Amino acid sequence: MSEVSLLIATRNAHKAGEIRAILGGGFQWFTLHDFPDAPNVIEDAPTFAGNATKKAVELAKWISSKHRTSNIEHPTLKFVLADDSGLEVDALNGAPGVHSARFAALDSAKSGNTPDADNNAKLLRLLKDVPLEKRAARFHCVIALTPVLPEKVEVASAVCYADEFEMQTELFDGVCEGRMIFEPRGKDGFGYDPLFVPTGFEQTFAELGDEVKNKLSHRARALQKLQSSLRRVG
Ligand code: IMP
Repeated sequence: MSEVSLLIATRNAHKAGEIRAILGGGFQWFTLHDFPDAPNVIEDAPTFAGNATKKAVELAKWISSKHRTSNIEHPTLKFVLADDSGLEVDALNGAPGVHSARFAALDSAKSGNTPDADNNAKLLRLLKDVPLEKRAARFHCVIALTPVLPEKVEVASAVCYADEFEMQTELFDGVCEGRMIFEPRGKDGFGYDPLFVPTGFEQTFAELGDEVKNKLSHRARALQKLQSSLRRVG
C-alpha cells in the first residue's frame, strides 16, 4: 500500500497522538501545527457530525485553494481528517455534549475552550448529589474524512465545486459507554479522562493509559471503521 497523506485537523496534541497511534503506519501525517496559517474553523454546529464535517470541509477547501495559488511546500495532501467528540452524561440530559471543550465557559461571557480542570470541576459540581448508579455517561466521536479535491474537477459551476467537498465527505462514529466517578483519578489522557470509567473496568481512562484506551475508546471505534475506507484508496 502506498502512503496516504493526511491532515489531522486539530491543534490538540493528545488527540492527534491518539489518532496516529490507533491508525498506525502507512500514512504520512500532518496536523494544524504544520499549517500555522490555516483558518480557525468555528465549531457552532449542534451535532458532532455537523462540526466534524464543517472542520474537514473548510480545511480541505483551504488546502485545495492553497495548492492552486501557491507553491505549497508540503507534499500534496490527499485527505483532511477531522474529529469532533465529547462526553454525554445521562443525569445532565446529554451535557456537556458538543460543548465539552468549553463547558466551563458556557455560563460566562467568555468564549473559546476552557482548561480541562475547570470543565471537570464544573461537571463534578453538577453531579455532586447524583449517586453512582445514576452516573452513566458515554464518550462520542464522529470523524469526517474529506478528500482534497484536485484543481480541475469536472463540475458545472463554482457552487457545484464547493458542494463536491461536502458530498464526498465520509462520516464514521464511535461510542464508549461508562460512568462518571466522584473525584479525578490518574495522570494519562486528557479532557474528562480522569473522571470516566469505561464499562467493564474499575479504572479511569487516565489510569488505564494510552494502550488500553486506544483499543476501546470512542475514537478507536470510529477510526476502526475509517481504516478500511482508507485502505481502499491506499
Ligand atoms: P473538540 O476538540 O471540539 O472535539 O472537543 C473535544 C472535547 O471533548 C475535549 O476538549 C474534551 O473535553 C472532550 N473529549 C473528547 N474526547 C475525549 C477523550 O478521549 N477523553 C477525554 N475527553 C475527551
